Amino acid sequence: MIKPPLPANEEARLQLLHELNLLDSDADPLYDSITAFAQQLFGVDAAIITLVDEHRQWFKSAPGFDLTETPRDVSFCAHAITQQTTMIVEDASQDERFHDNPFVVAEGGIRFYAGVPLALNDDLNIGTLCLIDSRPRQLSPQQQQWLEGLAAWVVQDIVQHYELENFAAEREVLAQGPVAAVVWQLEPDVHLVYAAENVERILGYSADYLLDLEINYESIVHPDDQQQLLDQMQLVLDGIQPSLEIEYRVVSPSQHTRWVKHFARADLDRHGKVMRVRGYIYENTDRKQLELDLLYANQSFELALAAGDLSTWDWNLAEGTVSVNHTWDKILDRDSSFAQNNGWAELIHPADVATAKSQLIEHLQGHSERFEARIRLQHADGHYIWLHTVGKAVERNANGRVTRMVGIHHDVTEQVENELKQHQQEAILSLVSQVQHEFLFVEHFSEVCDIALPELMSLSQSKLGFIGELPEQSRHRNMLRVHGYVNRLNGSQQATQALIRQGLEVVVSGSVVSEVLLRGDPELCPYPVAQDELKFTPIELPQLDNAIMLPLYFKREVVGLLILAHSARGYFREDLAWLQPMLDTLGTLMHIRRIDQERRFVVEELRRMATRDELTGVANRRVFLEAAQQRKDESERYDLPMSVAIIDLDFFKKVNDSFGHAAGDEVLREFCRLAKQQLRDTDLLARLGGEEFGILFAHAELAQAMQGIERVRKAIAEHHFNWDDKRIPVTISAGVAQLVSADPDVDKWVARADEALYLAKEQGRNRAIAAS
Ligand code: GH3
Ligand code: MG
Ligand code: MG
Repeated sequence: MIKPPLPANEEARLQLLHELNLLDSDADPLYDSITAFAQQLFGVDAAIITLVDEHRQWFKSAPGFDLTETPRDVSFCAHAITQQTTMIVEDASQDERFHDNPFVVAEGGIRFYAGVPLALNDDLNIGTLCLIDSRPRQLSPQQQQWLEGLAAWVVQDIVQHYELENFAAEREVLAQGPVAAVVWQLEPDVHLVYAAENVERILGYSADYLLDLEINYESIVHPDDQQQLLDQMQLVLDGIQPSLEIEYRVVSPSQHTRWVKHFARADLDRHGKVMRVRGYIYENTDRKQLELDLLYANQSFELALAAGDLSTWDWNLAEGTVSVNHTWDKILDRDSSFAQNNGWAELIHPADVATAKSQLIEHLQGHSERFEARIRLQHADGHYIWLHTVGKAVERNANGRVTRMVGIHHDVTEQVENELKQHQQEAILSLVSQVQHEFLFVEHFSEVCDIALPELMSLSQSKLGFIGELPEQSRHRNMLRVHGYVNRLNGSQQATQALIRQGLEVVVSGSVVSEVLLRGDPELCPYPVAQDELKFTPIELPQLDNAIMLPLYFKREVVGLLILAHSARGYFREDLAWLQPMLDTLGTLMHIRRIDQERRFVVEELRRMATRDELTGVANRRVFLEAAQQRKDESERYDLPMSVAIIDLDFFKKVNDSFGHAAGDEVLREFCRLAKQQLRDTDLLARLGGEEFGILFAHAELAQAMQGIERVRKAIAEHHFNWDDKRIPVTISAGVAQLVSADPDVDKWVARADEALYLAKEQGRNRAIAAS
């Protein structure tokens, strides 16, 4: 026996292996299905995924195999990992490295071994995917290719797992976030079915505690607030209101009281019935305290008057004049004309007029203690200032009508903007939670964008929004797969929506947007966007007043693009900050989606490889025999007739000899195409080998099958097969057999068709003969 040598890069190899965190880990259903699949595909005793560490080989997946590890010194895989290519030992008893290996000399010991090194980072072989068998065997080049394909799949998955694990770390950070998601289910009765991990930090109760069926959520809420929560929740549960937004106090187990803000939204089923209610909760104690303080402060009118830069007003209602103090000049930069003839009323923002009026009337009629409103007044340069105004009637005439009011104004623009920012931040976090949650359930990524995009547009007051993904193969970065497009400026959206679901791609051109995708820096366009700066062919964009274009990243790679445009309030650098969590989320989800798609593609490809004949694309022999067995079982169970035909091309050697092998190949492909045209969808055509084919006729008696094969024979005989402008004569012979109860197995059934084929050849070819 020869002990396995150490790979040259052993130290780096071991370090990576340990970093992957795979050793001694739990079974993984994917790996188990790969090894089970390989074992079936190659018909060997076992297919195993091994990892080789310092002293042993450990089995990550070895279905049906008793051992979980062996010493490294006696392992075949320890040899395989020192090689860069697949190691094949056809008969271990004849190999000097293994002939006296304990696993070889044991009774029923290993004879055949084929191991593909699992190579990460190019040349660090952490283990193998290997086949072992107790009989000597060989592996054909195609089989070797399949095995290597499966190994590549394992490697890809290990790499992705590793990346995802890192991503899990990022997710953990998110779980530390300020917003906790909770989900209520309605059936069979209302109860909490999901609570995010971070709920404990926010509410002081663990997710496990809250999910306990014995616990009512409202029991953790302050008694004074319980009813309000229950009432509001009932409205959502009954489908009367789509969502709720309330603040209440939660009393923690240690009797500590905290304020939380709670958004919730109903999920409807297809019939519009409420299915579940999703909520987002965050702690709000500090802000609530501030609000309460503010309220208190507002209530002390005198105190406010005493403060420094308040501006006071004194309004004579009878004369329509108002006198104001000096600070007004500073706030509005206007001369005193606005103080005459109620001119100031013209300066109120149109959207605020109604509220201000109703507040005023209420007070003038004596229904309120004081007049109080938050209104926007227009500054001399056109922009609006937010003012908080509080006033009181101080004089009335004989009829009791108010003739004079005095009050104060206070510039609260900064505060309002901060509140808006705070609102944006809260809304974006709730949106992130929602989008992540939704991502798990929807089929198309565009459905996630259907949720995210309108919300982002409303938060930024945009009239146009776009979300696109950069396909990996778009090397020039000028193609985007569209996931979301909303245009509220003109045009109907229906058609675009349907195209997006089908995978609409646009070609990106235009100086600004191309730069964003190439350089990966966000771009602010607070000015009208020229047509040649932003183009998505074939989508025709409307003229845009302004825009913000944001690259979406995963790690350091640009994976997509978000555009918001045509906002009434414009775009600012600060928008980047509140949007950031959403940008990160979209980028990450796009990345996950991409990985998932690649994996599905590989699975599909492998399945195709294992079941299709490569030359003609029809089913291969294995599929044919399996299907024949199925048909036989079905026939016995339901007493249905089944027939099979075996076809062989006549004088095919001559085709090769006269026209060349390539012409022969083309004839085989053309034969399959023509034959399929003559068959029903339920009939199965397969290539059994060389120029021999089989057809399984489902639910067909002999006569029906003969009709079918006759159609094929005739179509072939009449078809002009051409090569280099010369006609290739092609005919087929076939034998057909109906399954009978005397057939003990599929082999016998097929053999009877084969014998009939032999007769057809003997009787002059270009004919089909039914087996007796
Ligand atoms: P018969 O009518 O008796 O069947 O005569 P035949 O010439 O078809 O005889 P035979 O079955 O012995 O020969 C089959 C030939 O088919 C031999 C081989 O060169 C050719 N052949 C098998 N597989 C392929 C293939 O994939 N491509 C091509 N071009 N030729 C193939
Ligand atoms: Mg033949
Ligand atoms: Mg032939």
